[in-house]
Amino acid sequence: KKAFVPAITAIALCATLLSAPAHADLRPEPVPGGVAAIIVAPAGSPRPEVSFDGRPVLLRQRADGWHAVVGLPLDTPVGEQTLQVGPEGNSRPQSFAVGPKAYPEQRLTIKNPKMVTPPADELARIAEERERQLAIRSRFRDVPVSRLDLDLPADGRLSSRFGLRRIFNGEPRAPHTGLDVAVPTGTPIRAPADGVVSLVDDLYFNGKTVFVDHGQGFVSMVCHLDQARVEVGQKVARGERLGDAGSSGRATGPHLHWSVYLNGAAVDPALFIAPRPAR
Ligand code: ZN
Repeated sequence: KKAFVPAITAIALCATLLSAPAHADLRPEPVPGGVAAIIVAPAGSPRPEVSFDGRPVLLRQRADGWHAVVGLPLDTPVGEQTLQVGPEGNSRPQSFAVGPKAYPEQRLTIKNPKMVTPPADELARIAEERERQLAIRSRFRDVPVSRLDLDLPADGRLSSRFGLRRIFNGEPRAPHTGLDVAVPTGTPIRAPADGVVSLVDDLYFNGKTVFVDHGQGFVSMVCHLDQARVEVGQKVARGERLGDAGSSGRATGPHLHWSVYLNGAAVDPALFIAPRPAR
């Protein structure tokens, strides 16, 4: 595993700020697991309705027009993808290109075999939890979203990056759909941005988990917590404590796992991280 190198990120962020003033708070990267920012209507026109893969997408008005900010699932095929722009039944297709991205492989050893291949009597629970989380992260709460930059929910070394193709005990499993931060048990886990708590639960794989809905299908999830300190429906401000880090669920040790979703798709949280002051 490579250590996170803040200097390189700082240089990359500066380059992005110079080249893409429309989204100073986001690094669009139209690749599987990335984010596409596509102009869909002129500035000053009414907000258009836009969907991708049948789901509404986040829209923001910039100086050069309305931008659709589209999350691209990790299994998106490289090539042309299509947005639907306009009201249902009267929409026009707008295509955009998705480029390739190679994510590295990660091999992990998990001591508890039930966390690699769950026992048959847990499969119904796991399936129900998957559906529930999918519904929560696919919700579209139609409120203005003024900022897309997110704060890292805990200070620590970034230990596993988004997109890693995972092999657990020699068996291929789903890719890593979040960003891991190595922090000791009890470390405060904070809201990456303003939002409303949309799920608090104790799940088979994710352990103690909190979802925060930032608006327009922009959602954060933090998990493997030792404990949650918020309730469903609670409004939270950026930086407010959501819970404490731990190692609940399928975790090899205490750490934070943070996922970010756009239009239901897990995307790389690193694309939204605000520059951190030097310490
Ligand atoms: Zn993780």
